[in-house]
Amino acid sequence: MHVIIIGSGPAGVSAALYARRGGANVIVVTKGAGALAAAECIENYYGFDVPLTGADLERRSIEGAKRLGVHFETDEVMAVLPADDGHGFRVEGVRSVYEGDAVILAAGAPRRTLSIPGLQTFEGRGVSSCAICDAFFYRGKNVAVLGAGDYALHEAEILRPHAAQLTLLTNGSAADIRVSDGIAVEHRSLARIEGTRRVERIVFDDGAEMAVDGIFLAFGTAGSSELARKLGVLQRDGKIVVGAQMETNVPGVYAAGDCTGGLLQIAKAVYEGAAAGLAAVSCLRRR
Ligand SMILES: Cc1cc2nc3c(=O)[nH]c(=O)nc-3n(C[C@H](O)[C@H](O)[C@H](O)COP(=O)(O)OP(=O)(O)OC[C@H]3O[C@@H](n4cnc5c(N)ncnc54)[C@H](O)[C@@H]3O)c2cc1C
Repeated sequence: MHVIIIGSGPAGVSAALYARRGGANVIVVTKGAGALAAAECIENYYGFDVPLTGADLERRSIEGAKRLGVHFETDEVMAVLPADDGHGFRVEGVRSVYEGDAVILAAGAPRRTLSIPGLQTFEGRGVSSCAICDAFFYRGKNVAVLGAGDYALHEAEILRPHAAQLTLLTNGSAADIRVSDGIAVEHRSLARIEGTRRVERIVFDDGAEMAVDGIFLAFGTAGSSELARKLGVLQRDGKIVVGAQMETNVPGVYAAGDCTGGLLQIAKAVYEGAAAGLAAVSCLRRR
């Protein structure tokens, strides 16, 4: 029984504890501290007679999970996909690929979006957040990927065989990016996205324009929303939809913590993580 958990915040670590105590081999894949890193003083969580920082709480929680045999991998997850043989899941990180029988998404609240005029207006009408889902619709078209990191390169590689023209838009980041043949890099900042019914062009800060049929959002790292979308996990208002056992609509995939919405607090994340960890293990035992 191999359970992969994405995220080492309260939800991910709590899920790890319960899955591990239930007898599973557990790997937590995490890119580091989550929302807790910004919490200077926690006074409303059970069990501490003096306030402690979010960073301290996270560190102690991870150490406790390690003591029980939970394995932690520092990596940035770019996609979670069904395994090639149809059994279990394949978690694609920047550094490695991880395979498991069940996956728990605990990657925190959906990320903030860039405030470029037109980006939200054209969502679903030329603006996409999932190359695996939508690349096929852009066969032979001019496509751009908005982002400058590993996740953007990952999305660009998926689009490369389909697009006639593919440009990586770094939106002002001067980072030196190595791209495969067939991918152009544009460093200018975006002023706005224009079109009538669908996206038609990008206007840069200097007034220059570039015609595009589609823009794929991949700035920063993949968040819960992007990972869920690639797997076909149902979301409502950007939050992952779960049942009472924290199960999603995709068998074997669970979600917990801020990514499911509601009360964005540690206590709720810990409860949901526990429920997800238990449910994942009992589901795998029944197989
Ligand atoms: C400033 C601040 C103060 C707060 N104060 C309190 C408080 O006093 N009390 C309280 O109860 N709550 C507080 N909260 C809220 C609390 O921190 C969150 O509700 C809680 O951390 C949510 O836990 P989570 O596990 O769902 O997500 P997070 O803690 O955000 O953890 C998400 C995890 O996912 C990982 N991750 C994300 N994307 C990827 C990826 N692509 N690949 C690999 N890993 C990934 C992150 O690195 C992180 O480890 C505060 C939040 C903030 C921002």
